[in-house]
Amino acid sequence: MQIKQAQVSRKEFIKDFVRLFKDEVDEVSNRGYQQFLLPPGVASLQEFLMKCNKCYDCISDCPNESIMVSHNINSIVNEYPVIIPQVTPCYLCEDFPCIDACKTGALTINNCNKPLGIIKIIEENCFAFQGHYCSSCINSCPKTGKAIYSDELGHPIINSEECDGCGICINVCPSEKPAIRILEERN
Ligand code: SF4
Ligand code: SF4
Ligand code: SF4
Repeated sequence: MQIKQAQVSRKEFIKDFVRLFKDEVDEVSNRGYQQFLLPPGVASLQEFLMKCNKCYDCISDCPNESIMVSHNINSIVNEYPVIIPQVTPCYLCEDFPCIDACKTGALTINNCNKPLGIIKIIEENCFAFQGHYCSSCINSCPKTGKAIYSDELGHPIINSEECDGCGICINVCPSEKPAIRILEERN
């Protein structure tokens, strides 16, 4: 009985943290600070926090050095493995070595097709929307024409049905003020 109570309170504890984390993502997005994604194969943030034991095997096995340890003591994912697309995005390897490396069930192949996040263009910060020529995000997207395309005025438009949330477009965007943001973590 005691064990059950302990499990419930751990769940509640994580739930509260997840709520706090959502506020944090909103605040971070609004201020345009560095944003992050969770590695591929996560079912939900809550499950990830409960199952990840911070062994960092996913980090060691990522051939692109896309996953790193979060060092933000104010963040719910502090010391957890994350992807910071401004530094290195995820290249969504065909065989997902990060998932293969994870032995705790924090990352699973069943969830490898879920988008890593929901990505949005912030028009006021985007060169193309401000009348300048830029198509870096469109040109770099592995699913260009499907996940992101140019409208008749040359503005980048994201199709969230197709976007994998890999963050490659965020990585190449030359705008100093973040013009492409992660709206929502996988959850
Ligand atoms: S899918 Fe590939 S690039 Fe992306 S985090 Fe996993 S190992 Fe790294
Ligand atoms: S391999 Fe799995 S348990 Fe280990 S740090 Fe990565 S996500 Fe967490
Ligand atoms: S628009 Fe393309 S490059 Fe940008 S996150 Fe989506 S799939 Fe990745």
